[in-house]
Amino acid sequence: MIDLRSDTVTKPTPEMMEFMMKAPVGDDVFGEDPTINELERESAEMFGFEAGLFAPSGTMTNQIAIKVHTKPGDELICSYESHIYRYEGGGIAVNSATSARLIPGLDGMISAQDVIDNYNDPADVHKPLTSLVSLENTSNRGGGLCYDFNTFREIKNACDDFGLKLHLDGARVFNAIVAKGENPQDYGQVFDSVSICLSKGLGAPVGSVLLGSKEFITKARRVRKVLGGGMRQAGIIAAGGLYAIRNNISRLAIDHENARKIGEAALQNPRCASVENVETNIVMINTSGSAQEWVDELANHGILCMALGPKRMRLVTHLDISDSDIQKVCAVLRGV
Ligand SMILES: *Cc1c(COP(=O)(O)O)cnc(C)c1O
Repeated sequence: MIDLRSDTVTKPTPEMMEFMMKAPVGDDVFGEDPTINELERESAEMFGFEAGLFAPSGTMTNQIAIKVHTKPGDELICSYESHIYRYEGGGIAVNSATSARLIPGLDGMISAQDVIDNYNDPADVHKPLTSLVSLENTSNRGGGLCYDFNTFREIKNACDDFGLKLHLDGARVFNAIVAKGENPQDYGQVFDSVSICLSKGLGAPVGSVLLGSKEFITKARRVRKVLGGGMRQAGIIAAGGLYAIRNNISRLAIDHENARKIGEAALQNPRCASVENVETNIVMINTSGSAQEWVDELANHGILCMALGPKRMRLVTHLDISDSDIQKVCAVLRGV
């Protein structure tokens, strides 16, 4: 099977496995796991932050960040398409007793004007106190599209004017960095916290890292414990992530090129009404007929992907997809 349902399906390579098996470990709740300490240090340094915190999932790193940045009764501003709102089990409400001000935006992305228009005047007792803005890059439901970095700077200025914190759900931020040729250090200048995923395009089996100031990460460590995310000799899994950030970032350009090829091939099939702009590793196809029917037929050809709506389907490229896989996928999509 050629699995294009998500970039989370990758399996560790023999080289990554060997690195994991040899990783020195210790009790991370005591702060004594050298591999986790190294992963936290290296990723924080890469993005220009003081500190990092390893956690089992990107959901947990996002939820920890929201909880540290807000108080019960607060409101955060995010796109209505955002993962923190749609796909984290209502965690904003459950973990932080915070409400979400949902912005229509465009392709899962919002603007500084959206922040200005949706900020609540704290003098008005009717309204929840706005305390946080959360962005996503690349935008998952936006089909892997990337923010223009200037938009981040504009949003940061609006946040500074109102005293709001700014969080980035960077589950696929490495895809954005590679596609746009960005310097990861710039993220540390703009955001109060960034969550990065090691288990998406980077190909590690497990884990995410939350980045921020020393003070923020000290608070985050306490919340991680409360959520049950304090792990012991977890360096064995963190090593997969360490290997991934050292070896698997620049190769994301291959995934992006493969996604572009898939989009072009799909366009030649009459079942395809349109292909949304492909900037990174996600291809969103709008179908003329039923998306599910096309998805089922592709499965009969050994190709797995997902219907995201009655007439919308998604294919995601990743490091377990070879050149010959792409040739086969493109041939089948063209209808050969
Ligand atoms: C995958 C993903 C996450 C985190 O998911 P986990 O499965 O909890 O690691 C967060 N945000 C976005 C946009 C994602 O795509």
